[in-house]
Amino acid sequence: MDADLVVIGAGALGLSTALHAALLGRRPVVVERYAAGSQASGRAAGLFKSVQADELRTRIARRSIELALTFPDWAGAELAVTRSGSFLVARTDEHRAYLRTEASQSAGWGVDVRVGQPGELARRLSYFRGTGREHALWCPEDIYIEEPSSLIRACLTAGRLQGIELLESEAVTGVIVAGSRVTGVETTKRSISAPVVVDAAGAWTRQVARLAGGEVAVAPVRHQLLITEPAGAVDPADPITRVVDAAVYLRPARGGLMAGGFEAAPLPVDPRAEARSFSTDDVPLDIGVLRAMTRQIAAEVPAASGPVAEHRGGLFTMTPDGRFVAGPVPDLPGLWVASGCNGSGFSSSLAIGEALAGWICGHAGRIDISALSPARFGQVTDEALVTAGVWQYSHYYDPAGL
Ligand SMILES: Cc1cc2nc3c(=O)[nH]c(=O)nc-3n(C[C@H](O)[C@H](O)[C@H](O)COP(=O)(O)OP(=O)(O)OC[C@H]3O[C@@H](n4cnc5c(N)ncnc54)[C@H](O)[C@@H]3O)c2cc1C
Repeated sequence: MDADLVVIGAGALGLSTALHAALLGRRPVVVERYAAGSQASGRAAGLFKSVQADELRTRIARRSIELALTFPDWAGAELAVTRSGSFLVARTDEHRAYLRTEASQSAGWGVDVRVGQPGELARRLSYFRGTGREHALWCPEDIYIEEPSSLIRACLTAGRLQGIELLESEAVTGVIVAGSRVTGVETTKRSISAPVVVDAAGAWTRQVARLAGGEVAVAPVRHQLLITEPAGAVDPADPITRVVDAAVYLRPARGGLMAGGFEAAPLPVDPRAEARSFSTDDVPLDIGVLRAMTRQIAAEVPAASGPVAEHRGGLFTMTPDGRFVAGPVPDLPGLWVASGCNGSGFSSSLAIGEALAGWICGHAGRIDISALSPARFGQVTDEALVTAGVWQYSHYYDPAGL
């Protein structure tokens, strides 16, 4: 079999890269060891966030929001998006100062971000009982996708229209290198020749890169969320809320409330140390972590402590500087990577895929992502990588992360 490019992994990042490459006239084949969207992407909270810690991430986030809202126009498939807007809320002086900094730098990068008026949280959020002393930012650009599977389905439908071939239940077992160039892959079922191979293998990115002798600095770290049973206290039309001092995010979901967050001592997981059959279903979940988080906001958001209808989790791919890795793998012409999600891979996938496909195909896109190239890290030991990845995770909404 041959293709113009092989994408390894049918998560949000791989599917978006394949779709954008197909729209640029390439014939991609996507190889997925399980089912499309069954790993991290199928478990995401579906939140898109316009306020980001640097200008490049802001441009990627806002371009992704635009691509999600206009998906039917450019991709030819339906995608249901909830235009909820979001509140960023701080209850401590330190976090108030942090939000002020975020607001002024984000406004400078073009984001529509407004300081909340007194009483606005009480008026606009059915599930939040504030004291009135919170500092709040209103981010009207923010959106969410209710069920993460709908983004995957939309990419698959659009991909079929573009002639993308998807091979599911088929693992890539080797990356073929000939004359120091990557020329294709071996899978559990066949060989595929292609001048370009994209490693979009999520938590398995490192081991897939190693198949070709390449190094990509990502450390998988667990992330969890819960959805409560339907509760009258939650208006499904309410915005997203992020309580930054508690590192918790909330949104309406299935008639109840979704709550997820970033613990201070998260669990790193190395799939290389696990059985070959390891999948996201094997990531150990701990509801106690989420309960400790919802306790921090129990006074303001009692609904978050309600009975749990769903508890799910998976792995983020963290990088030492908290930014994506997307670009050519050093010293291995033909091998590219789309990973290092740092918790935003679902929402950024449409813009990352667009920019990366443009780079691969030689079409300068709207966003130059060369700063995200994997070469920026050089050699990093496993220990240093995990330490840095855990630090980035635990400072997701934190002033120290600025
Ligand atoms: C609970 C939770 C909530 C989240 N919430 C959000 C959110 O609100 N917003 C946001 O932006 N992000 C969120 N994320 C992060 C987001 O889910 C990830 O950033 C994103 O899904 C990463 O996409 P991916 O394509 O890199 O990975 P994945 O979806 O994991 O896809 C990688 C694919 O590669 C496949 N693969 C691996 N090895 C091979 C191989 N050898 N051969 C073939 N295929 C292979 C895997 O089976 C997998 O399907 C959340 C994550 C979790 C766990």
